[in-house]
Amino acid sequence: MARYTGSVCRLCRRETMKLYLKGDRCYSDKCAVERRNYPPGQHGQRRGKFSDYGLQLREKQKIKRMYGLVEKQFKSYFKEADRQKGVTGTNFLVILERRLDNSVYRLGFANSRSQARQLVRHNHFMVNGRKVNIPSFLLRPGDVVSVREGSRQLGSINDALEAMPRRGVPAWLELDKTKYEGVFKAIPTREEMNLPVQEQLVVEFYSK
Ligand code: SF4
Repeated sequence: MARYTGSVCRLCRRETMKLYLKGDRCYSDKCAVERRNYPPGQHGQRRGKFSDYGLQLREKQKIKRMYGLVEKQFKSYFKEADRQKGVTGTNFLVILERRLDNSVYRLGFANSRSQARQLVRHNHFMVNGRKVNIPSFLLRPGDVVSVREGSRQLGSINDALEAMPRRGVPAWLELDKTKYEGVFKAIPTREEMNLPVQEQLVVEFYSK
């Protein structure tokens, strides 16, 4: 299935929560969720209660949209998480957080995950000193993500870094702004990830 190219604010409204897909605008009063916090469409304001399946589906869609993934990729991460030892839901979120595009966003080099994905694809980043342009590249503890020398003047990266204090860097990452690099220090715990999602519902969704 092709990647979604419609209005991303519509996706947030569908989940009736901010998914922070648009960078600066998400922190302003122009945010569509701030203005119209109900699902889009003619019957958006009239939707009733969800069934158990409906709840699981919505949670799955919410996480998938948050990380900007397509169903096939999302499901393959779930299968991988299910094969690993430990709590499947937590393993799943950890895999999503280990993606290079997500880490570029979390470190503050981009204002949104979609912008981070584009910057990675356009060869602006290195991992451990080697050029990596694969957004789904999974980082391991100790990996160093850096902006390539020739890309350090890029307006979008510098603008994002300036806006970074608003979001803060999560505990499992460390940013050195002056060197334009960050370290993926350790595998995050569920508490550290502090995500407003119920991953157990996704486990239930795929376990049917
Ligand atoms: Fe979602 Fe950001 Fe649009 Fe608000 S501005 S609805 S948080 S994408």
